[in-house]
Amino acid sequence: MSRAAATVATDLVRAQARALKMPGLARSYESLARQAREEHWSHEEYLHEVLATEMTSRLDSAVRHRMHDARFPEVKTLDTFDFSAADGINASQVAELARGEWIGRAENVILAGPIGTGKTHLAIALGVEAVRQRRRVAFGRAADIVRMLVEARDQRELSRLHRRLQNVDLLICDELGFVPFDRSGGELLFNLLADRYERRSVLVTSNLAFAEWVKVFAGDEKLTTALLDRIAHHATVITTKGKSYRMRKRSIDEKPADSTPALSKVAKKS
Ligand code: ADP
Ligand code: MG
Repeated sequence: MSRAAATVATDLVRAQARALKMPGLARSYESLARQAREEHWSHEEYLHEVLATEMTSRLDSAVRHRMHDARFPEVKTLDTFDFSAADGINASQVAELARGEWIGRAENVILAGPIGTGKTHLAIALGVEAVRQRRRVAFGRAADIVRMLVEARDQRELSRLHRRLQNVDLLICDELGFVPFDRSGGELLFNLLADRYERRSVLVTSNLAFAEWVKVFAGDEKLTTALLDRIAHHATVITTKGKSYRMRKRSIDEKPADSTPALSKVAKKS
């Protein structure tokens, strides 16, 4: 092919790739063509390599979109989680959960324990793993989810919001228990979570023991029992223990200053 013909072909392929929405192909076809010429690939081999690049590019962009749609408050991953500093958390159990099969089975995870013991970190990290497996995830603090539900109800858009949230494979409801709901807020959250029962997964983190959940739901024993029945039915429950990670880390980092009364008092208080 003459140089001029090659330039025309390049322009045409670029335009075709744009029209067909194949950015991976557009990026890779020229360098792969050079490699193909040098290494004497068949036409079929070349086509295969170009399409493989396009596929990888599409999968990467799906993960990026799902990461964005999940609305994690920040990205936390398992490789930054220090299991040796995490009381009550079993590394191999978490590794098993990270494989995401429980999400395929529409099972649940409950992370319960005191503040600062890594519940949110783990919840996000498991969510990130699920996204990497190209599952749809939505993250929200319980109070924000309830606020969203209340607003949607007031605007008569509740069923639309339900549909959107029911579409995700994993709904992460963080910090259940920090803010109690009034009766109607509690009912809205109950309906959302109960709807997912045996269909889609939920991951709940809470600073409360199960017996205290009723406090969050305006003292409604019946509703709380019904919710717990459903959520805990097919659930892995992980109970974190001990002192706040940050407090503990601070007292380890400042070991020589351990005798400082103010610091040890702070650490004990948590
Ligand atoms: P919780 O949700 O239980 O209140 P967080 O997950 O928000 O606690 O943890 C508080 C902070 O400490 C976060 O910045 C988190 O990344 C960090 N953290 C907690 N536990 C660990 C751990 N075992 N390894 C690494 N970082 C941790
Ligand atoms: Mg938290």
